[in-house]
Amino acid sequence: MKAMVLPRLANLAENQAPLKLVELPIPVPREGEILVQVAVCGVCHTELDEIEGRTPPERFPIILGHQIVGRVAQTGPEATRFRPQERVGLGWINSACGQCAFCLKGDENLCPEFKATGRDADGGYAQYTTVGENFAFPIPPVFTDAEAAPLLCAGAIGYRSLRLTGIKDGDHLGLVGFGASAHLVLKMVRHRYPQSQVFVFSRTPAERDFALELGAAWAGGFEAQTPVKLQRAIDTTPVWQPIITALNNLDKGGRLVINAIRKEEVDKEALLKLDYARHLWLEKEIKSVANVSRRDVAEFLELAAQIPLKPEFQEYPLEEANRALLELKERKIRGAKVLRIA
Ligand SMILES: [Zn+2]
Ligand SMILES: [Zn+2]
Repeated sequence: MKAMVLPRLANLAENQAPLKLVELPIPVPREGEILVQVAVCGVCHTELDEIEGRTPPERFPIILGHQIVGRVAQTGPEATRFRPQERVGLGWINSACGQCAFCLKGDENLCPEFKATGRDADGGYAQYTTVGENFAFPIPPVFTDAEAAPLLCAGAIGYRSLRLTGIKDGDHLGLVGFGASAHLVLKMVRHRYPQSQVFVFSRTPAERDFALELGAAWAGGFEAQTPVKLQRAIDTTPVWQPIITALNNLDKGGRLVINAIRKEEVDKEALLKLDYARHLWLEKEIKSVANVSRRDVAEFLELAAQIPLKPEFQEYPLEEANRALLELKERKIRGAKVLRIA
């Protein structure tokens, strides 16, 4: 099979083609696993963190990619949940132990044995991949393959972030950064919390215009002041200034959820502007969001099908994965990016 593999960590500023196209044997599904023929795989900001070592893979070479839509090509021994040719999706959660205190209360995203697709196990930048059958999800028929792929990470983690804000209908929500996840959150809020207004912070005018087109009440830059206080906010940026901006605009008792697997070091000095009285006092909260559970993915796919939530996306051939990643880093094209594989 064809695969774009990451042979070692790389700095994208110096190496614009960190992934290499190689020919590999088709993997064989083990007990309880399915072999999936990949149709499309979404491209995620987390891949940049994997390549540059902020959340490094356990081994090399590794096949990246955790927003996979494909069809069951073969079932392994004892795997009975899906039939050949059934359409399935895979997300960031690849496996968890199922037995620890976190798993037992449904917080499998916090399991110490948590394995991520495309980081700890081979992912979807390839023609085939394997996964435990209980970690694959049926894809609602309302979506095409390419429409479903970005939902599997950006959408599912966006859903979890929104859930963790504790939003109630009528609360004002700030979205700091407006990439694939945030634009799906905006659509979810418009559907589920119709009385809530959404305020979007982005450093690019194109993203701000896009936010307004999608129904945001207001859009401004990373240091802007919102016209009203925000009860809830989600930060999806890789930098630090937006945390100060969000806290500055947050209402008393408000909560900021940080949805970023790692922050970059570039503007860390922005944190020196943190003023306790202004930014944290009066019961403001900061909470991060880590990974996703199967419940998040399954509930989110159901909600997305009801709305229906169809992400804006741009397709690239598998061989152009490096270009897709660079354009993601440079924020060249709005919405999600999807590799077309079959
Ligand atoms: Zn992702
Ligand atoms: Zn566990």
